[in-house]
Amino acid sequence: MRITFWGDTSELVQTGKSYLISHVSTRMFNGELTLNTTMSTKISQIEDVEDPKEDLTFIEEKEEIISISQIKITQNYKCCNTSCNKTIPEIDFQNSFIRCQACQMKQSIKKMKRATTAFLNVTLENSTTTKFVIFEEALHKFLDLEKNAQLLENPDQLEDHLLEIEQFKVSHQSHSDVLSKINRIPVSNQSE
Ligand SMILES: [Zn+2]
Repeated sequence: MRITFWGDTSELVQTGKSYLISHVSTRMFNGELTLNTTMSTKISQIEDVEDPKEDLTFIEEKEEIISISQIKITQNYKCCNTSCNKTIPEIDFQNSFIRCQACQMKQSIKKMKRATTAFLNVTLENSTTTKFVIFEEALHKFLDLEKNAQLLENPDQLEDHLLEIEQFKVSHQSHSDVLSKINRIPVSNQSE
């Protein structure tokens, strides 16, 4: 089935990779049923589906209690030129403008799109260990609830903040190691 990506959503996908896409609308176009992204469409990358027709497995949302053992947060900035969209390395934030070495276009550093990714080694409730990834959007939602959104400006402090929290309740698709939601589990037996 054909899908049309509207607006910014086209920047979230790459040819040849597999994604789980939810909250889309359907539309009849030239007698063909098509999918379209909407304002609430969610896109998350999943393990590559080798043969999409034969590998239609049931995907469900899983919730898990985790504690973070190790964490690494990376941030990179992307060229605003929509036909380029390449990561710009080594930005000097003292400057106002930067030239993208990929497309040679100069642009405002403030307007560049930031992508924050947190890589987690975690321990599950049954003591097994696994790895998860959190992208900027889910981190932002979590930090908004914590009234700590400014931590996104400082990856090192954000790592400390997340390591200080004992347990999280997280959600992810059964196929994917990308966390769509994280929440702090309040400590119940806090000493006075
Ligand atoms: Zn560029």
